[in-house]
Amino acid sequence: MRDALTAFDHKALTNFFAGIGVETHAPDGYRIFPTSHSSSTIISALETEMQKLGIELICSQRVEELLMQDSQITGVKTASETFYAPNVIVATGGLGYPVLGAEGDGYTLASKLGHKITEIHPAMMPLKTKETWVKNCRADTIAKVELRVDLPKAKKLRANGDLIFTNNGIRGPVVLDFAREITPLIEKYGEVVLLLNLTKGLNEEQISQHLKEKVLHNPHAKMVEHVSTLLPHAISLELCLLAGINPEEMHNKISGASRAKLVQLLAWTPLTVTGHDGFKMAMITRGGIHLKEINPKTMQSKIVSGLYFCGEVVNLDGPCGGYNLQWSFSSGALAGKLYRVPLLGIKIANRSKTEGSAFTYTLNLRSV
Ligand SMILES: Cc1cc2nc3c(=O)[nH]c(=O)nc-3n(C[C@H](O)[C@H](O)[C@H](O)COP(=O)(O)OP(=O)(O)OC[C@H]3O[C@@H](n4cnc5c(N)ncnc54)[C@H](O)[C@@H]3O)c2cc1C
Repeated sequence: MRDALTAFDHKALTNFFAGIGVETHAPDGYRIFPTSHSSSTIISALETEMQKLGIELICSQRVEELLMQDSQITGVKTASETFYAPNVIVATGGLGYPVLGAEGDGYTLASKLGHKITEIHPAMMPLKTKETWVKNCRADTIAKVELRVDLPKAKKLRANGDLIFTNNGIRGPVVLDFAREITPLIEKYGEVVLLLNLTKGLNEEQISQHLKEKVLHNPHAKMVEHVSTLLPHAISLELCLLAGINPEEMHNKISGASRAKLVQLLAWTPLTVTGHDGFKMAMITRGGIHLKEINPKTMQSKIVSGLYFCGEVVNLDGPCGGYNLQWSFSSGALAGKLYRVPLLGIKIANRSKTEGSAFTYTLNLRSV
């Protein structure tokens, strides 16, 4: 990733967009958006720029085959036409959100020319849980949740961030990020137990101390009221019930074992992830064309000369926060760089059936 990001980093990207009339800003000082907050602004600016440069954009033609002769790319074939070209960039995306156009064609196209494809998994998506109590806790966003996997071989997998309970599971930034680690494990083990710290990192001792202080301060309050000083009310209720405690009961009426169980649940709440909605809801695909077969300095295939890859089709993905889009733009810029100098001053993209003519395989952008 380093070469692509060095060649075309986030500043270069925002400068590029400023140069074609797209103003951007970072409301939280970190994530960059077009000031219009509309992907149409990006799409129409790119379309206008392409028109200005004389690039022809051909839509509604699905590339079905990459043409190669003696390990050199010679063009692409669609259902109705063949386009000859000395260079082809494959920017076909992953398998996620097929409704937006990407269906994993790049993997088939590349593997037919000898490229290896890693295992593919859906990522950046909500997860479903076995526990049904989650549906009662949908109202709140819980900040700074710590998640870890309760599997002997995956103890080191942890994540932090905001979490939201859903009708049948969990979502929110931390879940979207962590899903890339969980989906392969679900495939392997069928289900995955996650442990959630919903109390901003407090450990059992700190929770126990906190509750003791609350009880001392207000000995006649119901147990759920004490727990609600740590968590939203709906979750406090559910955790009391899970610990076998009547939430309406006062502290001194509850057995020591139940209180200990509650403290344990507050420190690490178990949730069993059993599934997800597959690629239909995956914003990102984990896996792709093997990186060892791509030159990171140019994005050119090491197997087929003149064949380039960029974006999500390769085995690279990042967390939430714009990293995937930045990678797609950076790697696309690097892959396309080779064309700029030699082709300067002539028509960059030329739809032609004549062998040897320049052809840029330009793909429509999905929502930013
Ligand atoms: C709902 C959603 C929200 C997202 N939000 C973010 C975000 O906030 N930040 C972030 O960084 N990333 C986000 N992503 C991920 C990001 O959009 C992708 O990583 C990025 O768009 C990938 O770019 P790409 O050019 O590689 O592929 P894509 O943008 O997927 O484009 C691939 C294009 O190739 C075309 N195509 C595929 N096969 C063929 C073929 N055989 N012939 C011709 N054309 C073909 C498709 O029609 C499509 O237009 C989001 C994704 C989704 C689905």
